[in-house]
Amino acid sequence: MATTTQTVSGIIQEIKRQDGTGPSGKPWTKWSLKIQEDSGENHYYTWFGDGAGLRTGEHAVFTYSTKENPNNAQHPYRNIQSRMPDLPPVHQPDDLSDMPPGPGIPPPAAESPVQPLIVPIVIDVPPLPPNPAAIGACANHAVDLIVAGYYPKPEGRTMDSWIWEIRDHIYWNVNQQPCMNGHFCYRHGEPFIHSTRTDSWGHVVEGEEPCME
Ligand SMILES: [Zn+2]
Repeated sequence: MATTTQTVSGIIQEIKRQDGTGPSGKPWTKWSLKIQEDSGENHYYTWFGDGAGLRTGEHAVFTYSTKENPNNAQHPYRNIQSRMPDLPPVHQPDDLSDMPPGPGIPPPAAESPVQPLIVPIVIDVPPLPPNPAAIGACANHAVDLIVAGYYPKPEGRTMDSWIWEIRDHIYWNVNQQPCMNGHFCYRHGEPFIHSTRTDSWGHVVEGEEPCME
């Protein structure tokens, strides 16, 4: 079974600690957590990390990978890899179309002093207020892309802060971008114009050759 990194967000219902010593004499601590996920499902997770700060009743977010459970194929083992910055619990509809139009809160990520990885598409459409379900999905995409090597973590950055940054980058520059329906240049972020003379689509780029579809 392929191992993929996923994210779990929920309330910690139970914490069990088990200490032991490995074959080389190195001590280990295993934390067994029962988490009531934001979806309402309960699952058990195992973590060999620093669980000393965990509290029952606390809302937390973790990345984890799954491993085949030979005794129960329906319930693979869930091994936590790291704790992530928390998000508010998801109570909102998954579908953005169910949300009322937002008051036009400016995207905070746009103020980031860090150079964006992709040139952001700037279009004058007021963004919706952050949607927790969409942010959660973006966190999953961010982890997948980092693990796949598309966004290598810069030296000196913690993995948590890097996932956070890529999550926000994907949220504002992909998830919250308007949905275009053909004849749109995603590279320059503007619509292609139809030329009846040449029957082609393109747009002007200042100081360069026109960009053709
Ligand atoms: Zn273009």
